[in-house]
Amino acid sequence: MKLPIYMDNHATTPVDPRVIETMLPFFTEKFGNASSRNHVFGWDSEAAVDRAREQVASLIHAASPREIVFTSGATESDNIAIKGIAEAYAEKGNHIVTCAIEHKAVLDSCKSLERKGYRVTYLPVRPTGLIDLARLRHALTDKTILISIMAANNEIGTIEPVREIGQIAKQNGILFHTDATQAVGKIPLDVEEMGIDLLSLTAHKIYGPKGVGALYVRSSKPRVKLIPLIEGGGQERGLRSGTLNVPGIVGLGKACEIAQEDMKADGERLTGLSQRLKAQIVGQLNEVSVNGDSLQRLPGNLHVSFAYIEGESLLMGLKDIAVSTGSACTSASLEPSHVLRAIGLEEHLAHSSIRFGLGRFNTEEEVDYTARRVVEEVRRLRELSPILRARKAKMKGQANPHSQESAS
Ligand SMILES: *Cc1c(COP(=O)(O)O)cnc(C)c1O
Repeated sequence: MKLPIYMDNHATTPVDPRVIETMLPFFTEKFGNASSRNHVFGWDSEAAVDRAREQVASLIHAASPREIVFTSGATESDNIAIKGIAEAYAEKGNHIVTCAIEHKAVLDSCKSLERKGYRVTYLPVRPTGLIDLARLRHALTDKTILISIMAANNEIGTIEPVREIGQIAKQNGILFHTDATQAVGKIPLDVEEMGIDLLSLTAHKIYGPKGVGALYVRSSKPRVKLIPLIEGGGQERGLRSGTLNVPGIVGLGKACEIAQEDMKADGERLTGLSQRLKAQIVGQLNEVSVNGDSLQRLPGNLHVSFAYIEGESLLMGLKDIAVSTGSACTSASLEPSHVLRAIGLEEHLAHSSIRFGLGRFNTEEEVDYTARRVVEEVRRLRELSPILRARKAKMKGQANPHSQESAS
């Protein structure tokens, strides 16, 4: 086993060697601009991009590869979807429904629309992170043009009821966008069956390269209209101008193909590994709680609060294991993440939480090592905890001198 161990696969994933191999020729001999129509360099690149478009479409069961728009990643896809719909449908209405635990790419796109006069409803979530479908129905008005709810949460791993949300959207003639960045390639998604009109994804969360992603845009029943954010050469049917990142797109395509082939086996293995990690931690430590929904959750996610210790201190003690407190985007600030706040986690528990993100390349040996180190470190930090010391001292002074609180 090699140290350090990477267990932060919700933040990003390593590129699968099969993906790199497929990308390499597109940096060297096949370097053509996919828009060059007059020579074989351009044709080869265009053919490679077409193939990738089919691979992405196939993974999410899009009716046509033409419904896939390549972007620089999920942040851009979310921005195009939300701002592009808001502008294209401004005459129909000015109301958007989203939820409190979305990624900042969605929340901040909505905030920017609010400054322009749009109205946004941020649905609260249950303590498990699931949205309440009755509340969603209730939030819709005749001015609602878009529902944007994520497929799976990047911190606590909860999977939202996408199919049911799609049905509600259809029944009310409202478009449905889902940020499926964490769900794509991990759980089955079918934009046709699930009534999804727009879907954001990115390569670097599914063992592809950083800086490339896609937006699925439904082209029939209904045909979704979008106003582009970036204008120029008219690439991607005018929805996203700019010379295509051919090696990146080829990598995204290959990553999708592998994800589709390996989804079931990978999912079962990761569920096993995260349950193994959970069992060892919960089995050896008191006062730990597991966050997120116990059933509707991503296979590789384990999010745990360790009472009485600071998540930051725990990370410092686990220098050879890469895990995360809260999400990567908020760990620079000392505020507990908006997701943990939205699920109602008490402030002190929010500060004592760790997200384990298991991925394709983690092994059982790494899980066992991580569990052992976490247990050791939590016990050590709790020994030092002033709150626990005070409590122990108080217990000693009480009736039964033999009762010693252990919160190891
Ligand atoms: C990582 C992530 C994003 C951002 O994706 P980028 O490709 O890094 O822009 C958006 N939404 C969710 C849920 C994510 O996990």
